[in-house]
Order: sequence, then C-alpha cells, then structure tokens
Amino acid sequence: MVRYAPSTKASVASDPYSLRIRGVVFDMDGTLATPMTEHLVKLHIELGVPSGMGILEYVDEFLQGAEREKAERRILEVETEAMANMQLSPGLLELLQFLHDNGLPIAIITRNNQVAAQHFLEQVVTRQPKDQWKWFRFDPVLDRSFKPTKPHPQGLLHISQKWGIPPQELMMVGDHLDDLLCGVRAGSVSALLRYRYNSAYECKAHISVDRIDKIIDSLAHGFEADMAIDGTTDMGGYA
Ligand SMILES: [Mg+2]
Repeated sequence: MVRYAPSTKASVASDPYSLRIRGVVFDMDGTLATPMTEHLVKLHIELGVPSGMGILEYVDEFLQGAEREKAERRILEVETEAMANMQLSPGLLELLQFLHDNGLPIAIITRNNQVAAQHFLEQVVTRQPKDQWKWFRFDPVLDRSFKPTKPHPQGLLHISQKWGIPPQELMMVGDHLDDLLCGVRAGSVSALLRYRYNSAYECKAHISVDRIDKIIDSLAHGFEADMAIDGTTDMGGYA
C-alpha cells in the first residue's frame, strides 16, 4: 500500500514533499455529467457492436466506406440527443470548490466529440451562478480527436507533462473501465464513480465512491492506495 498525504493547502504548507494528489483529471459523461448509459446501450444494439467492445473501436476496426460514415453520423446524432439532457453530476460542485480552494488543477479526457465537450463547458456550466464558473477551469480538455483515446494512458501522460506533475500524483476519475485502466496504466490513482452498471470495475480502482463529492474525504485526509493493481483487463473472474 502507498500512503498519500492530504492535498489541502495546510498540509502542503506543513509537509511539502510528501506524495499526494496534486491534480485531478475527469471523464465527462457519467462522471462530470449524469450518465448517458441508455444512449450508449442503444447505440451498441443498433450498430451491432459485440458486448465487451467499445463503440469507437468497433467502428474503427470493422466498418469501412459508406457503412462507416453512416455509423459515425449515427453516433453523433445520439451524442447530440444525449447532450440536450446533460446535467451536472450530484456533488460535483462541492468537489470542484474543494479543488479550486486548494489550488489543484483540473482537466477532462473524454471519448465524446468536441461539440459535446464544448456544450458541457458552455451550456451546462454557464447555467450555474456566475461566482461558481471559476471552479470549472478545466485545462486541457481532451476530446476523442486526441489519439490514442482511453484506455491508453497517453492523454493522462500528456496532462502530467503539461502540468509538470508526475503521473503518480494525479488522480483519474471516471465511471468506466477505460477511465480506470487509463489511470492505472499511467501510474496514477484511479477513482471509480460507482453505479449499478459498473461495480464490476471496482477491482481496477484505488478509490470507489457512490457520489463524486466523497472523493473530498480522501483528498482532505489522505488515503492508502494499492498500487499493485494492474492495467490489464483481467477482472479476476468478475467480468
Ligand atoms: Mg464515462
């Protein structure tokens, strides 16, 4: 087990060199915003994607020409439909305020398209009171045009370099196996936002919470992480 010191300003001031989370990277759908699970399930069935395979990987590997264009158009349509219903994840404001108050940078890595990411930042965020907008300064925001996408750790390593914070001092928060594997493979701490549909992924998470603001407990008081969790898709018989 590896001990992480608290990430609060007070703890950093009194004990600056301990290992601690110094920046947090979020998945978007199902993490910052309420899940678009139904939409994804719909797409999976409609496009005939084999279970256990990602929609984007399926299109990349198996579809070509007109068939591929049609599938890509349909994905955009469904994403746009889901976008209209985007809501902030319950507890998110509390967590973002904590991160802001303690000076931790935040970023997004999403497999969604650029328009949806912009919509989240411009529409969903600006619905909040203006004095809260400063809590939402995600930088960078990597959409799926940044390749390779999660579960590859490249996006997270890119952010680590940009921020000048080593990967082991970053936390990757998400609701999908891709997010957790991205975190584990980068050597970062992975945090699972648990729902009924994703509890099987818990074995790939260093931290699991039922509401996103519960992450504050770990960041405020420090925590222990089992850094022996491996970045393979082997779920120990639970998958
Ligand atoms: Mg997600």
